[in-house]
Amino acid sequence: MKLYSTNNHELRTDFQTAVFNSMPADKGLYMPLHIPRLDADFIDHIENYTLAEIAFKVAAALLQDAIPAADLKYIIDEAINFDAPAVPLQEAGETQPDSYVLELFHGPSLAFKDFGARFMSRIMGYFLKNNEKTLDVLVATSGDTGGAVALGFLGVPNTRVTILYPKGKVSDIQELQLCTNGQNIHALEVSGTFDDCQALVKQAFADEELNDKLRLTSANSINIARLIPQSFYYFHAYAQLKRQGKTDVVFSVPSGNFGNIAAGLLAHKMGLPVRQFIAATNINDTVPRYLESGVYETRPSVQTYANAMDVGAPSNWTRIMDLFGNDLEEVRKIVTGYTFTDEQTLQGIKELYSRFHYIACPHTSIAWLALEKYKENTIADADFAGIFASTAHACKFPDIFPEDIKSRIEVPGQVKELLGKSKQATPIQADFGEFKRYLNTYQGQEGNATSY
Ligand SMILES: *Cc1c(COP(=O)(O)O)cnc(C)c1O
Repeated sequence: MKLYSTNNHELRTDFQTAVFNSMPADKGLYMPLHIPRLDADFIDHIENYTLAEIAFKVAAALLQDAIPAADLKYIIDEAINFDAPAVPLQEAGETQPDSYVLELFHGPSLAFKDFGARFMSRIMGYFLKNNEKTLDVLVATSGDTGGAVALGFLGVPNTRVTILYPKGKVSDIQELQLCTNGQNIHALEVSGTFDDCQALVKQAFADEELNDKLRLTSANSINIARLIPQSFYYFHAYAQLKRQGKTDVVFSVPSGNFGNIAAGLLAHKMGLPVRQFIAATNINDTVPRYLESGVYETRPSVQTYANAMDVGAPSNWTRIMDLFGNDLEEVRKIVTGYTFTDEQTLQGIKELYSRFHYIACPHTSIAWLALEKYKENTIADADFAGIFASTAHACKFPDIFPEDIKSRIEVPGQVKELLGKSKQATPIQADFGEFKRYLNTYQGQEGNATSY
């Protein structure tokens, strides 16, 4: 597999380098040079394949010779070891489902980021040769990313993860997911904001002394190894609907950094038949505004209920533009954007509950609202099936729900286990000197990652 940079189409990088660098030196994003079209016969019979089989087919086509087939299959079976069901929502008295909710939260951290983080961590572990220097993964998180990365790398040999999270600004469950792992996962509770955490990580990457000593990587959301596995579940969702005789589908995707929807569009480029993708955002609406006005103007992010989507400058948007030759008209043909306020998000949660007895997290509510709006705005004779992505389990955001709904949220087994564990985090100030001292001492504990 060869990749180029969105800032330099002449650049050629191999998959391993792209995975460890995350980002090319020119600050573009890596893109596959060749986007293969899956054979028509596979798509025509896709309903006969499991998620793992589909994942292997898609990954093998993209990665080509980067990883031998048997190794790739092993990686996929380990990484994608949970389901992504498309659950029909049907109102009492109706004969047909109103729409389908694609539940992407059945992995260990209860968010769709598990797909990307688990695949990426295993790819990195695979490429790390024995006796190579330990890979130090630094992640700043506002909640969901840290948990997925922590649980993704947990126990992966030759890797060590340091998570920085803002004290008091992540939910209780999110904090437990960050702070109860042990082994090769370490959490730093930073007295500061998410931006402070991110600044500390950025400074570490720029620090020569640290980079001489440690092999640092960011494992962040623009890594190509996080993007690729997110395309798997689009094919699998289509397969599930095809089993019910539905092949005309629309995907609504709750979007922040636009990695999830970028993976859907990649799947579409690989031959997945999709009528339309809906980019659903909270009031951080840079992309819907752009689709409407043609003017791309980023803004500082604003805090909302759907906080994993509080992004004013979506990092993966460049990838989407690149996929369509930077032609806005081409993007508009396949991507529609809608945006919703907190009040509407809450209304969506209540309506999903009253009509379908379905409890959705705020991000998921926005995806549903966007699908409903798209239906309203589309000609009546269009007979498509709507699929909206549910990116996290509702129990991760308990404070947002009205009491009567909150009390009915089913807490999954993974969370019940967490509740009995004690939190292990090292408190630090938002101060680079202190962070650097921590990383330096840490260096001395080589091969002893379980000591706490
Ligand atoms: C990260 C996240 C999103 C946004 O996904 P992008 O790929 O950044 O667009 C949406 N919902 C949840 C729950 C998330 O954790």
